Amino acid sequence: MTKLSKTITYLPAIQGDTRIRIFRRTFPDMEEFAGMYVDAYAIISTRYVVICDTLLCPEDMETVMTTLGPELASGRQLLVINSHADWDHAWGNGYFVGQRSAPILAHDACRTRLLSKEAQEQLTTYQKRETTFHNVTLTAPALTFTYDLTLYGDDLTFTLFAAPGHTIDSSALWIPELRLLLAFDAIEAPFPLLESADGVQPLIATLQHFLALDPLHVLCSHSTADSALIRKNLDYIQTLVQRAAQITHRPTNAELEHASTLIASPFAEFSDDETDASAFYRQAHEENIRYILQTYHA
Ligand SMILES: [Zn+2]
Repeated sequence: MTKLSKTITYLPAIQGDTRIRIFRRTFPDMEEFAGMYVDAYAIISTRYVVICDTLLCPEDMETVMTTLGPELASGRQLLVINSHADWDHAWGNGYFVGQRSAPILAHDACRTRLLSKEAQEQLTTYQKRETTFHNVTLTAPALTFTYDLTLYGDDLTFTLFAAPGHTIDSSALWIPELRLLLAFDAIEAPFPLLESADGVQPLIATLQHFLALDPLHVLCSHSTADSALIRKNLDYIQTLVQRAAQITHRPTNAELEHASTLIASPFAEFSDDETDASAFYRQAHEENIRYILQTYHA
């Protein structure tokens, strides 16, 4: 573990294999995310250096890129992947324009989201609140796919595939030589976050797809992960879906305020998290249930 700046720490992902590198970004200036982090990755193959996600701002990517001089000096092509368009995953894209230009790859829906009016409005709001975002420019991926895309890096193969659920534009990355799955925000401890009712059934299908891959190593963006976490996250969603299906009336707004009470699924049943992040996840749990209820009572 090496501290690279006030907010970014480097750590190896797999013991004894320096090809997979984690860059962990904390949020010391954002109170609502106390105790949390987001991971980006650099993966060094014979042919490519692949950056997976660009964190919060161009300055974050500058920190990451300063560590990769030797790997790039030997002639490897630099490629950038966005797992999805959320602010903590794609707002550092602006680093890779102009003189430092590199191809950015993502699901086509990620491009659409980054080019949307909503994304620009969110950026304006965040820029008013936090100096972190002052140099962010929304930079859309220029190479997109809809189902999957494979890059042959010689020693490592990168299969990027649609993994909708957390968001509709989410992707995951599979490296068969290592049986390594980069799940990004599709899985998370204690549970994944839905951003809309449209994500409920896709997330179930995505988690089933992950299990079918039978990964040996699993990484995700906001917590530690393994195959058991995929199973646990799938159980979580399926349990909530089953309980929400039992609600036969259209929930009132007052009931939706306490959605976990309505379907008798308290936060403590799914998490023993008592860290700084628990307030965040308590709220996320209520929102998840509201989205699941919406699939029955739109
Ligand atoms: Zn995220």
